[in-house]
Amino acid sequence: MKSKSTAKAASKRITSHPSTASTNGNSPKPKKMLIGGRWVSAASGKTFPTYNPATGEIICQIPEGDRPDIDAAVRSARNAFENGPWRRMSPSDRGKTLWRLADLLEKHTEEFARLESLDNGKPLAVARGADLPLAVDLFRYMAGWCTKMLGNTIPISVPYAPGERFHAYTVREPIGVVGQIIPWNFPLLMAAWKLGPALATSCTVVLKPAEQTPLTALRLGELIQEAGIPDGVVNIITGFGETAGAALAAHPDVDKIAFTGSTEVGKIIVRAAAIDLKKVSLELGGKSPNIILADADIDSAIAGAANAIFFNHGQCCCAGSRLYIQNKHFDKVVDGIASAARKIKVGPGDRPDTEMGPLVSEEQLHRVLGYMRAGDKEGAKTVVGGGRLGDSGYFVKPTVLTNTKPGMKVMDEEIFGPVVCAIPFNQVEDILPIESDNVYGLAAAVWTRDISKAHRIASELRAGTVWVNCYNIFDSALPFGGYKQSGWGREMGAEVLDLYTQTKAVCVRL
Ligand code: NAP
Ligand code: MG
Repeated sequence: MKSKSTAKAASKRITSHPSTASTNGNSPKPKKMLIGGRWVSAASGKTFPTYNPATGEIICQIPEGDRPDIDAAVRSARNAFENGPWRRMSPSDRGKTLWRLADLLEKHTEEFARLESLDNGKPLAVARGADLPLAVDLFRYMAGWCTKMLGNTIPISVPYAPGERFHAYTVREPIGVVGQIIPWNFPLLMAAWKLGPALATSCTVVLKPAEQTPLTALRLGELIQEAGIPDGVVNIITGFGETAGAALAAHPDVDKIAFTGSTEVGKIIVRAAAIDLKKVSLELGGKSPNIILADADIDSAIAGAANAIFFNHGQCCCAGSRLYIQNKHFDKVVDGIASAARKIKVGPGDRPDTEMGPLVSEEQLHRVLGYMRAGDKEGAKTVVGGGRLGDSGYFVKPTVLTNTKPGMKVMDEEIFGPVVCAIPFNQVEDILPIESDNVYGLAAAVWTRDISKAHRIASELRAGTVWVNCYNIFDSALPFGGYKQSGWGREMGAEVLDLYTQTKAVCVRL
């Protein structure tokens, strides 16, 4: 039986143009992966293509790393962790190195934005204006933590040793070799979210980017070397999830797995990691409620609701895909968001006026179209959009659905595309039971001018992030992650450092 990833690649091969794209200005020669400071092909010599989702054309070939490559990368990361200079470097020097990486990335913003847009399909302006500055800022924020990994001194009493004196303290130590598996929706930013805290805490890493979008992670590997991060500290293995990813998740010499992606694969990772009880952190899917109360600034709520679902083509784990609107303004908000959807300029990411690009892959296109059909079949009304746009590239129409209710696939499942369910409600109390049944708990938002109501609703929603009168606000200092089946642990902020360190208690008899 074909693995899911092999099947995915094969299905792309059947329907995509076989030619190598001539539009990208990128070298068509096969890329290499990073192991122990060297750029290498897969041990098997196999490669797979990465595609431009705006055209379906091949950009270039990528090494198809598998178990032997993962083994070599883990050996290199282990050696760098145990014997290399990274852990022994002064915290200040480590911080300076991370800051240097941020500077290099910032200097190459335009190049990275173009590469990201080419590989993932997102508008160049979005890559330039959001993905890049957030990634740069994350490395700078984490650079600051290098000198602040504090322990405690703890006055202890030891009740069974009266009269004895002790000096006790804690030290935060790096967890060791970390396997990091990331998705395709924000390829560079997800690499930064993962690498930043690992490097700040002196861990060493094997990173596996998503098969659909490996290019910016590989280019980042070159900047990592240029910044002076020692060989073997960051290893990058490209390949498929079910082979390379699974080998990493199950590897006996990996101390921790950090994963971002679907809840389904998150569960597979947990099972693999359970064999030797690796530490695991997970940033998974969502079906996030966006609640507009009747007393909200309605124009700003409409713009916010459109951004909540259409940003990054809805390919966001925190997309505001359940739009609850208090009865009084239901028609006005639905008209407003439908009109916003009609105005969105959908096109190739590299066109200056493009506001929404193609979905990332042919597989994702079919997934999203499948949800649109399921909505139709289950009685949803398509107010605007529905279906594919054009017949080349992976474009879909921004879509607003009404007449949706729990139990329908479009209401219950993560679509990961620009499709929103608009649901009227009478009072907030009607929504809360529906949301308490939501298996996800990544993000939520509430729009109101009543500050008390905002805080009350924020306290009642079981979600890792609650936005009030805004949506999609991210900051390196603000922890992000899920309640319920949206994940374990937090990305960013001080919280993420807990996931990459362990505490040693030292007790000295005086
Ligand atoms: P996915 O399968 O969860 O992929 C995420 C990462 O996990 C990729 O690097 C993938 O590798 C890897 N992977 C897949 N199977 C694996 C396995 N058995 N063991 C170890 N690693 C494995 O996500 P997807 O297929 O790209 O997208 C499917 C759905 O996931 C989306 O429609 C969306 O609902 C959700 N998703 C969520 C996020 C998020 O940010 N929370 C991001 C992306 C997708 P390959 O890609 O190389 O196969
Ligand atoms: Mg691609």
